[in-house]
Parts: sequence; structure tokens; C-alpha cells
Amino acid sequence: MSVEPMVFPAQSRLLSYVALLCLTFALTLGGILARPIESLSLFWPVNAVLAGVLLRYPHHATLPALLLIWLGMVAADLLCGSEWAPALWFNLCNMGVVATLWQLLSRLPRLHRRMRTPHGVLCVFGACAGGAMVAASMAAAMAAPWFEQSVRATWLAWFSEQFSTSVLVLPVLLTAPSAQALIRSGGQAIRLSPLLVMLVSLAFSIAFGGPGAIAFPIAALLWCAWTYSPFMVSLLTLTAGSTLIVAVAQNLMHFSVPQSESGVTALMSARLGIAMLVLGPLVVACVTQTNRSLMARLAHQATVDHLTGTLTRSAFTRRANALLDSRQQHAQLLPMTLMMLDIDHFKSINDAHGHAVGDLVLRQFADTLRDQLHSDELLARMGGEEFVIILPGLAPDRAQFTAERLRRAVQDLNVQQADKRVQITVSIGIAGCDAGLPTPALDALLASADKALYQAKAQGRNRVEQAEPMRRVI
Ligand code: GH3
Ligand code: MG
Ligand code: MG
Repeated sequence: MSVEPMVFPAQSRLLSYVALLCLTFALTLGGILARPIESLSLFWPVNAVLAGVLLRYPHHATLPALLLIWLGMVAADLLCGSEWAPALWFNLCNMGVVATLWQLLSRLPRLHRRMRTPHGVLCVFGACAGGAMVAASMAAAMAAPWFEQSVRATWLAWFSEQFSTSVLVLPVLLTAPSAQALIRSGGQAIRLSPLLVMLVSLAFSIAFGGPGAIAFPIAALLWCAWTYSPFMVSLLTLTAGSTLIVAVAQNLMHFSVPQSESGVTALMSARLGIAMLVLGPLVVACVTQTNRSLMARLAHQATVDHLTGTLTRSAFTRRANALLDSRQQHAQLLPMTLMMLDIDHFKSINDAHGHAVGDLVLRQFADTLRDQLHSDELLARMGGEEFVIILPGLAPDRAQFTAERLRRAVQDLNVQQADKRVQITVSIGIAGCDAGLPTPALDALLASADKALYQAKAQGRNRVEQAEPMRRVI
């Protein structure tokens, strides 16, 4: 299974154990403090958080680590006045959730495990249900001496609590970006309106009340889902879901389930309803993210030549036309130059050394040109071993020196692969216009530079030729 980088290097395993123990202890204490007397905790995030940490950093999922987590839970429980036997057993139920989530999710491919696909989101939901069932069954099996309620009521209480908490908490850990990605995206502006509408609809849910009110934030959450990243959406579903659970538990939303023999309470019903509600926004967030990365990949492929990293022909045409348009609109009509470059006798390199060496030559040739150019100068591969450069602000006379520099740099290039050493030369044709002259059309510039290139080839190659007539005619 592919893994995240380790939080702690292998030699500081002790440090990772201490960190896991402290995290378990703190989260368990938090959960106990949110526990109304004689009842299940309102919010018990420790199981889902620990499962999420182990799934993100699988190197730490060892048997001693699991044992330590269990002891951390038991210690926190004992500290808060629990008796030994229930503390040992019920925390073993908690470990049932951690172990089940680990078992079901750790074998999934990384893409699914990190909830980057709708299939992954459904798998995480299924695993949360599985983990909750295991814990509920273990708790119900031993409940009789410690709980006054029926086995069925105990099972339902544990299942609804564990399922809803896992579904709200685990996606946050699984979708969390790495520290580097977080720093990279730190400067990006975030649209506030979906977030504000979500908070308002959440407040409206609580103010309006009744069983239907738990669905009020769904429209705003869907808006958030196609606006924000899956991680941000997970944080929002956690915020909305846990707020609604607390509001129902505190009877702020004024709804109750008619007392039935099944032992279903309003809180259990609300927990399950909320857990199912967040599925929609999480799936939408993951599909939107997938579409966005696909579009970005396609845009990159259309813009950047895969072999040399230069602009593609179509991207060059777009940018060069934009450059020519902006020159025309500029009062000063600055000079500009276009160069056409073609590697000499490239076919014989392919024939003598093979296509792979030919590709390496193309890559190193493009690197050599790029090293010599400024950031505002465009370099593109027009096809095969033919490249084009636009130098804005430089007249063709002055560009002659630049072209000579490029020609010499290519001549000095030694392409080495294994025992093969290849040297190449390039022929260059220059066209362009001096300051104050009207802006030529791109096609005319290309045709003119091509003609000059043809002359350079005809006159012996490894040389630079100017398209003399072009500069005055255009
Ligand atoms: P000249 O000096 O007249 O330019 O001769 P040349 O051999 O460089 O030109 P020609 O047009 O005859 O051959 C270009 C060769 O470039 C033919 C083609 O197989 C090769 N080629 C085109 N694209 C690629 C590529 O992506 N990789 C490799 N390795 N070769 C390529
Ligand atoms: Mg050639
Ligand atoms: Mg050619």
C-alpha cells in the first residue's frame, strides 16, 4: 500500500508511541467530558481520529501501538472514576471500531482511501457502518451488568453514535492535505459566500426546529461542495453535523420520536439522518475535485509539450497573437523578433543512435535554449526538431547577437547517454520588425523566418540568416 511520509523517523518510534498515547488520552478525556451522566458520550471522536491517523501514517499501525491506544483510553476512563471492568471492556469496543476501520480501509488503493473517488467515499461510509456494528455488537453483548437499558437499545445507541461520529470525523483526516500542500495553497483567496450561507442555514435549522430542520443546511453544503476542496467540505460537514447533534441532544430543535418498543430515541434518529445527509456533499466535493484536476491536466497537456517542456504549437499561436495585439495597441510600437530554429541533420542522429537518444537530444536542446532566454520570451516546439522563439522588445539587428549566442550554446552542447556522445548544430532564421513599424501578422512573420531558415540550411547549416526584405515590407 502506498503511504504518507512518516511523521516520525523510524528511530524515534518511542516518540511516535508517546504522541499516540497523549492524543488518545486527550481525546478520550474530551469524549468523557461530553458524556451526560449515566449515558453514552454526545461526541466520541477518539476512535475515528485514531483510525484516520493510522490510515494516513500506516508505519505507526503496529500491535504495540494498538495496545498503547487501548491503555490510553482505559487510563483516561479510570481517571474519570470508571470501574476497571467496564473501562477495560468498553474501551475494547472502541478498539473494535479502530481495528475494523483499519482492516477495511488500509487495503484500498490510495485514491479511494483518500476519498478522491465517489467509490472511495462510499467505501469509507461502508467501513464506518462496519466499525459501528462491531462496537455496538461487542457493547451490547456485555451490556447487561452495566446498563439498565435493553440489549437492543444499547446496540442502537452505540451504533448510531459510532456511525455518525465516524462519518463526520474520518473524512477530515483522510482528505487532509499534507503540510506542504497546505502551505502552497495558503495564499489563495477563499470565497466566503457559500460558507456564510451554510452558517446561516445551520442557525435557521436550530431556530426553526422540528425533524425536517436537520436537512436545512443541505443546499448550502452542496454549494460548498462544488466551491471548496473535499477537505474543507469535510470540515464543514463535521461542523454542521456535530452542531445539529448537540442541538438535538439539548432539545433545542424540539423534536421527539414517539416512544416505541424498538428503543429508538430522537437523538439516535437524528444521528443516523445527519450521517446520511453528509454523504451527498462529500460525493459532490470529490467529483468536483476530480473534474477540476482533469481539466487542469488537459489544459497543461494542450499548453506544454510533453517531451521538451516548451509551449505547444497551439499555445504558442495563442500567446504570440496576444503579444502582437498588445504591441499594436501600444503607442510606442516596440521592436520585436521571431526566430525559427531547426536542428541540423537530426534524422541521422535518430538513425545512428536510436529514437531514445534523439528524444534526449531534443530535451537537452530545449533546456539549452531555455537557459539562454528571459522569462518574457516565448519558446515553442512547432513539431519534430523545429522550434520557434519570440523576443518582444528586441529588433532583428540586435537579435542577431542573441541568435549567434544560441547557435554557439547548441554547438557546445554534449549529449551523453551511456557510452554514446552526440554533438549537434542548429540553423536559425530571423524575421521581425523595428520600432515604429506596423505590427505584422503572425503567419507572415513565420513564413518569413522560415524562408531565412531555408537559406541558412542552403548555405551550409550551423548559421544564422536574416529575412532582410521582411523588416521593411511588413
Ligand atoms: P535538416 O538538417 O535539413 O533539418 O535535416 P533533418 O534530418 O534534421 O530533417 P528531417 O526533416 O529530414 O528529419 C527530421 C527528423 O526528426 C525526422 C523524424 O523522424 C525526427 N523526429 C520528429 N519528431 C521526433 C521526436 O519526437 N523524437 C525523435 N527522436 N525524433 C523525431
Ligand atoms: Mg532538421
Ligand atoms: Mg525540420
